[in-house]
Amino acid sequence: MKVMKFGGTSVGSAQRIKDVAKLVTERGKNIIVLSAMSGTTNTLVEISDYLYKKNTDGAKETVNGLEQKYNRTIDELFSTQEYKDKAMKEVKACFNYIRSFTKDIFTLFEEKEILAQGELMSTALMNLYLQEQGINSELLPALDYMRTDKNAEPDTQYIKQKLTALLEKHKDADIYITQGYICRNAYGEVDNLQRGGSDYSASLIGSAINAEEIEIWTDIDGMHNNDPRFVEGTEPVSELHFEEAAELAYFGAKILHPTCVLPAKLNNIPVRLLNTMQPDAKGTLIHNASSTRTIKAVAAKDNITAIKIKSGRMLLAYGFLRKVFEIFESYQTPIDMIATSEVGVSVTIDNERNLQNIVDDLKKFGTVTVDNDMVIICVVGDLEWQNCGFEAKVMEALKDVPVRMISYGGSNYNISVLVQKEDKVKALNALSDHLFKNK
Ligand code: ASP
Ligand code: MG
Repeated sequence: MKVMKFGGTSVGSAQRIKDVAKLVTERGKNIIVLSAMSGTTNTLVEISDYLYKKNTDGAKETVNGLEQKYNRTIDELFSTQEYKDKAMKEVKACFNYIRSFTKDIFTLFEEKEILAQGELMSTALMNLYLQEQGINSELLPALDYMRTDKNAEPDTQYIKQKLTALLEKHKDADIYITQGYICRNAYGEVDNLQRGGSDYSASLIGSAINAEEIEIWTDIDGMHNNDPRFVEGTEPVSELHFEEAAELAYFGAKILHPTCVLPAKLNNIPVRLLNTMQPDAKGTLIHNASSTRTIKAVAAKDNITAIKIKSGRMLLAYGFLRKVFEIFESYQTPIDMIATSEVGVSVTIDNERNLQNIVDDLKKFGTVTVDNDMVIICVVGDLEWQNCGFEAKVMEALKDVPVRMISYGGSNYNISVLVQKEDKVKALNALSDHLFKNK
């Protein structure tokens, strides 16, 4: 059995719900995890915001607007009056529940109840639509099996046990529909796995049932080998190691967040990124096996600041780096890239909020230079140090670009270089030409 997760845009209208229904019924008995219809969670956040501010009129108006949208979707989605009525009843119950919170005090608990309604509605609609099509679809309520423990971490034992029992109880179903994102906490209260958490749900569900594969369906065809906004002719990467995916995630590559795929990685369950608009394209497979000796992708991150600290005191000294790092820690600023020499160290940050304070403190230890508007370019692949030549290839590609920092050896999966903003597009294209063309 597979887990197939569809994001908000994939179920964002009656037509999109029909398309997903067709796609999933053609693929057999799997667990379908759904996000809320696109825009819904944001609107529920807005409603909660009005309620926190005790603006009941604002809340009610926004609830009514959202309800009308759902009513129109129902009208378009179902063809029989019987199912229109069933769907209206479900959706109306959700909206009345939301309205019930306009009367009393409003806290985080109530907000979480409201936020849960989006996924409850999208799954109710999909389940009923499949049933109207004559399919024996079964709704698995996430609130009955998805749970976090006292540390707000998923309670994997509980999830496995409850989900297995639910599947056993409904073993005759043709297909299972369930909610992403929502769960209960250790005290049984309605909670969620944070915004965008449906991918996490899919990964947890896949791990709990030891799924054959976890499929994440969006509307892009997997992960591209370079940034399509700046480089022509980029191609989807056919496979990535989980570690490579984690490196790319920092670069905002449209890919899953590493914490979301962690359960899949640990349980060795492949994750595949697929495109609802082109369902037969291969997409990107993320797994624990890596094709060796290949460079897979290039990505860039803007708005990077490089800070160099040079000091004679660093020579043959110990504890110097600790002092430097402690300064960044005390201003809660993460360091991303580092390069060191015997007498100096360069680091990068992407959060300039405390830059002045950091620089002031660093000056106690050495001469400090700051370069703003830099870009990290990261090359990802199977780059084990024993393999010869890939460093040379990267540097050869960048021979006409001034490079401020180079970092390799932190992992076997990436080389990062720091360049000026004005050289970013040139660097990305040069790397594409050298690494991916005429292979
Ligand atoms: N609906 C939730 C959100 O918009 C969860 C998700 O889509 O993954 O954040
Ligand atoms: Mg999402």
